[in-house]
Amino acid sequence: MFAGPRASPDALAANPVGAMGGVESDAPFRAVLINPYELGRQPFALAEPAAWLKRAGFEVACIDLALQRLDPRTLAGAGLVAIYVGMHTATRIAVEAIPRIKALAPAAHLCVYGLYAPMNETLLRELGVGTVLGGEFEPGLSSLAERLRSTRRNGTQSEPLIHLGRIEFLTPDRTGLPPLARYARLQMPDGSNKVVGFAEGSRGCKHLCRHCPVVPVYQGKFRIVPVDVVMADIRSQVAMGAEHISFGDPDFFNGPTHALKLVRALRAEFPGVTFDAVIKVQHLINHAELLAELKRCGCLFITAAVEAVDDAILEYLDKNHTAADFGRAVALLRQAGIAFAPTFVAFTPWTTLEGYVGLLQRIIELELVESVPPIQLCIRLLVPQGSHLLKLPGFCDLIQDFDAKILGHPWAHRDPRVDDLQQRVQALVASAEEAGLLRREVFARIWAMAHEALGKTAPPLDPSNPGSPIPHLSEPWYCCAEPTTQQLQRF
Ligand code: SF4
Repeated sequence: MFAGPRASPDALAANPVGAMGGVESDAPFRAVLINPYELGRQPFALAEPAAWLKRAGFEVACIDLALQRLDPRTLAGAGLVAIYVGMHTATRIAVEAIPRIKALAPAAHLCVYGLYAPMNETLLRELGVGTVLGGEFEPGLSSLAERLRSTRRNGTQSEPLIHLGRIEFLTPDRTGLPPLARYARLQMPDGSNKVVGFAEGSRGCKHLCRHCPVVPVYQGKFRIVPVDVVMADIRSQVAMGAEHISFGDPDFFNGPTHALKLVRALRAEFPGVTFDAVIKVQHLINHAELLAELKRCGCLFITAAVEAVDDAILEYLDKNHTAADFGRAVALLRQAGIAFAPTFVAFTPWTTLEGYVGLLQRIIELELVESVPPIQLCIRLLVPQGSHLLKLPGFCDLIQDFDAKILGHPWAHRDPRVDDLQQRVQALVASAEEAGLLRREVFARIWAMAHEALGKTAPPLDPSNPGSPIPHLSEPWYCCAEPTTQQLQRF
């Protein structure tokens, strides 16, 4: 598909040496792939393009800022630096890191790719990013690298901003990434922990939830990663010590037949390896008959975006499930012997103080206090550029103009007590994490705080009814949160 590692003599004659600001034309062309953060997971989205680029004869180096610092020696002389932004927090870190990356690799063409790249295109270009790629980005990244290698010139982007065509998936090349043992671990209720590998069986999503960042890019489409590629990836990670696989698909049951093939293959080859996945509430109910099979194949827990326990808010978000469905999904997973890890958008412009207390109450009723990572109780609705929420009649009256500092449209609740509570819960969650408080301890403080905001005394919590601790990853799943100081200190 691609030329060899050197540009053709004709191309070099047409494009003089040093046109990219000092990269010598006879030096091997080197690409550096950077991951700002991906929830403590070893990133598939670095390992997969690394395989593509290496196959085409490029030198590739990877830097995972979740665990590594920006190394000047790695960046020096790079012809291409490509930064992966798969989530809001990663994009915030990338925006902060770009000036430093440009200083360390002044001759490199800068590319930003991943889900959050197209929706932040304007800002990224203002920061000096030459190429922005979303969707199935590997062909664009490869074509860009090939063009840079053959012409040694920057030039304007000719690759599509969003590519949704079907691509060839290769077995991800994870050799340039830190060892799995340094990433998030699986914490078991008995206090033991396991090394986690991370795989993706699909990308995109066939649903159109209004607040979801997948939607503006994939527009209701999803793409399958072939079973043999996923299994080859899992095989290599098991060889690196993985004892549990966390599937990073936006929704594992977008293609339930594919999902079953994957987990059956996993079970057949690695009977001792467990897994977790993300599945929407509606799919848990519609495919309830498959849950026992997931359990048999080693599923320990399912993360599901419940988002709210208020039917009006669920309607605004177009979640296609009701508040009652939350309880149904919990019951179905319990029946199957699989733990349920719900996620929430706890604060929205429609959330009332009473509604927030209602969310906490529902978590207690369903015995899920130990199942909810505290960060889920302070998540504030993010409205990125291109969000389908902007199409909701009247929604634009609730928000302000796009603010590049937060990569979204700010909004203030009409009841300032709600915003104040969100800020205080967020600060509590941050300090509780540092102090190592148990989930039930943090929940009790939030319970008291929420009632206090209403001017009420919180009813005592039944200490015997927090629910049982569940297996979970040591870094919780979320879409958007402020980068921490530690995350911003790696460059
Ligand atoms: S929230 Fe989940 S189900 Fe909805 S569009 Fe996003 S990935 Fe799909």
